Amino acid sequence: MTIGILKETGAENRVAILPGEVAVLKKMGIEVLVEFHAGESAFADDKLYQAAGALTLERKEVIARSEMLLAVNPPLHDDIALFREGQVICSVLNPVENSKWLEEARKQGISVLALDLVPRTTRAQSMDILSSMATVSGYKAVLEAASLLPRFFPMFMSAAGTIKPARVLILGAGVAGLQAIAVARKLGAIVEVFDVRSAVKEEVKSLGGKFIEVEGAKEDAAAGGYAVEQTEEFKKKQQELIQQRAIAADVVICTAQIPGRKAPVLLLGETINEMKPGSVIVDLAASTGGNCELTQNGKNVVVNGVNIIGKSDYPSEMPTDASKMYGCNIINLLKIMVDKNGNLVLNMMDDIIHGTTAVHGKEYISQRVKQMLNIN
Ligand code: NAD
Repeated sequence: MTIGILKETGAENRVAILPGEVAVLKKMGIEVLVEFHAGESAFADDKLYQAAGALTLERKEVIARSEMLLAVNPPLHDDIALFREGQVICSVLNPVENSKWLEEARKQGISVLALDLVPRTTRAQSMDILSSMATVSGYKAVLEAASLLPRFFPMFMSAAGTIKPARVLILGAGVAGLQAIAVARKLGAIVEVFDVRSAVKEEVKSLGGKFIEVEGAKEDAAAGGYAVEQTEEFKKKQQELIQQRAIAADVVICTAQIPGRKAPVLLLGETINEMKPGSVIVDLAASTGGNCELTQNGKNVVVNGVNIIGKSDYPSEMPTDASKMYGCNIINLLKIMVDKNGNLVLNMMDDIIHGTTAVHGKEYISQRVKQMLNIN
């Protein structure tokens, strides 16, 4: 098989595969073509790709000569006519946002593998791009908050007096939240955490965070380890407790999400008015509405002297390691899709391949895509 690595468009700095991972693909018997300057924003120039055994070419050539194309974001509308029936595109998809493009791809007989649909099973853990990117986001969110905060994170006992440690409140202890706890603790902050899943309590404690329990949280074993919508009574109780802890905090990192829904609003506008001026909120749930009522996606706003950062593109700001993790996840996925001669075999009986394939053979395949797009 020949795989093509596309250069990202727009403000994206990551690349799907770095030169280090090209060498792994070559060992699997795969030929690798790379679009000119594909890795430049991730500090990998064409010479490094060539040294790893890839051929660097113009975009059109890469598309024309590859069976499978790898990208971070879907290569959208302008390119669709360049692809041909039977070709496979593999990227993060955001199926709802890109439903028209996906429908075009389906009609053209292109197969689309959506890396954001990799099932969250133990076997698929090493292929889980969402977890990898959440790790980057949780880390960067704390660093950004620390650099904006007009105070230290750690406690200091100095000749100039004692400096109290910063207080960090973390809403949601999934992959991003747990990473944020670890980084904030390493920097010396006192960390308090809210989540609705009791299973994370021990993990939070083992990282040195204090888990604040709100009684009456609804959990559903059928949700596969994810959070579910809470009752109105619980939401009210939780909001009151969060309000108290946010007023005492210097930093709030928001990561709470419910799959397929708008993010839960946990921090109300009135709470911001009572928070300490100079404090910082980083809302990683911004793209799905935010956990803070005043968050604006993609923007930094200041209310009552509180910085509210609505950012969801931290992985692009750390392109070297984010691309490395992305590429390793793809290679782990390819290992179950490529035979010993390096040929692609899309076995739809495999739950990971079935769950990740958005369209194939002019049909919608993944159950989750069908649900998201209301297709029977
Ligand atoms: P996520 O991004 O879906 O949500 C972040 C966190 O927000 C979750 O912990 C959730 O419980 C919490 N949350 C939701 N509503 C909330 C509310 N009202 N108040 C407070 N917190 C709220 O989470 P994620 O990082 O995708 O992880 C979710 C689960 O899936 C975890 O148990 C994780 O370990 C698991 N997971 C498993 C795999 C795998 O097995 N392959 C991969 C990734 C994640």
